[in-house]
Amino acid sequence: MAPAQTLISSKNVAVIGAGAAGLITSRELRREGHSVVVFEREKHVGGLWVYTPKSESDLLSLDPTRSKVHSSIYDSLRTNVPRESMGVRAFPFLPRFDDESRDPRRYPNHREVLAYVQEFAREFKIEEMIRFETEVVRVEPVIEKWRVQSKNPGGDFDDEIFDAVVVCTGHYTEPNVPHIPGIKSWPGKQIHSHNYRVPDPFKNEVVVVIGNFASGADISRDIAKVAKEVHIASRAKEPHTYEKIPVPQNNLWMHSEIDTTREDGSIVFKNGKEVFADSIVYCTGYKYNFPFLETNGYLRIDEKRVEHLYKHVFPPALSPGLSFVGVPAMGIVFVMFEIQSKWVAAVLSGRVTLPPPDNMMDDINEWYASLDVIGIPKRHTHTIGRIQSEYLNWVAKECGCELVERWRAQEVDGGYVRLVTHPETYRDEWDDDELIEEAYHDFSRKKLISFDSSYYLENVR
Ligand SMILES: Cc1cc2nc3c(=O)[nH]c(=O)nc-3n(C[C@H](O)[C@H](O)[C@H](O)COP(=O)(O)OP(=O)(O)OC[C@H]3O[C@@H](n4cnc5c(N)ncnc54)[C@H](O)[C@@H]3O)c2cc1C
Repeated sequence: MAPAQTLISSKNVAVIGAGAAGLITSRELRREGHSVVVFEREKHVGGLWVYTPKSESDLLSLDPTRSKVHSSIYDSLRTNVPRESMGVRAFPFLPRFDDESRDPRRYPNHREVLAYVQEFAREFKIEEMIRFETEVVRVEPVIEKWRVQSKNPGGDFDDEIFDAVVVCTGHYTEPNVPHIPGIKSWPGKQIHSHNYRVPDPFKNEVVVVIGNFASGADISRDIAKVAKEVHIASRAKEPHTYEKIPVPQNNLWMHSEIDTTREDGSIVFKNGKEVFADSIVYCTGYKYNFPFLETNGYLRIDEKRVEHLYKHVFPPALSPGLSFVGVPAMGIVFVMFEIQSKWVAAVLSGRVTLPPPDNMMDDINEWYASLDVIGIPKRHTHTIGRIQSEYLNWVAKECGCELVERWRAQEVDGGYVRLVTHPETYRDEWDDDELIEEAYHDFSRKKLISFDSSYYLENVR
């Protein structure tokens, strides 16, 4: 940990966003003694987890004038991380067996996650810091401070000065839609997973789903329940790939990526197979987007790389006044928010110092070079699931907080392997009961649960 060089001080901090990242960050900032204002453009806490049946007016989300929707959650979504690993360390995500409206499963549905996030906000009295229906439209540095311009619920603009701004606006709202040869004249329907909610519109159709990671694997199976045929196109597969995937409807195939699409409605894969499809569903991820940030070109986004962020959090020349919580993509997201925001809070109070900007830039350039050496493309700069414990432990040491628990790291790594090898069953069948046991004993030891751990263990397994 870098030693503190200044006296510990309280700062006036703006947090943008009241999703899980903003809520967790606000708690950590206040615990460190800062005063916090949270700006949230919606009416509720929860961000991504506030499900809506509505989709955007442009189903590919390309039209800049479209009506926008924040959430990317589909109706059938269950978590892709077990609840004991997903929850914040200070407030475990416990099953509730006493309330029928709750989903006590180990991998619960999205409504259960929202209920948990709302409970977190209530427990730590975060709502009193939030200005709802207030959108931040501009953030810019002014000598040693930050100017935040927001649009309040009455439609008026407010200008305020803060010592620091922490950006917690998420990165699953601005779809990434890759170009596909011939697509301009392909006549079928196209939709990005951001706008996918239920399978019904695909009844009896032939559907091509592009992408086979968490959302692609889920959505293709969801659609297969009602469609005539579903064909997954995966860039990660060898060009010759053509496999039947076992599902009850016997109508799901895996292909390599798409080679071309044609005016007659056909889609040709790199494996040479051709299908005549009614719809394409893009499960092709999202882009980073911070439209309110005005940094004179200092911060920019290049192929999904936010340039430049020291350890994915601090832009060297603009830190510590500007920071980002939640940029990396990994398995234990809420715990990442917790550890990153403890670091931000400690740096802002002066309890921990950052290296000089040049040294931070050197570190960033070394990180980029290390990705080049092992052939990881720029667009995966912040995809750090493979080193998540190493990364989080580095940040945790920097701010003097507890390292990632052994059981948590192992659960998430094991769960990831099950997700890839058994996408249809990994949420209901597992072989890591001893890690669940370790987790609940850990909660008990830390006095985070009011019942004995056996109460949970008997019901969860
Ligand atoms: C389909 C899908 C499934 C996922 N499943 C899981 C899972 O199972 N487990 C898991 O841990 N993670 C999962 N994730 C990752 C998920 O992103 C995180 O769990 C987390 O909820 C993100 O929180 P966030 O606060 O960073 O962003 P968000 O939840 O998106 O919150 C951002 C908030 O910022 C607000 N905002 C944005 N711009 C402005 C502005 N200019 N002014 C004011 N407010 C603004 C938004 O309204 C929103 O409330 C999933 C992601 C996706 C897309």
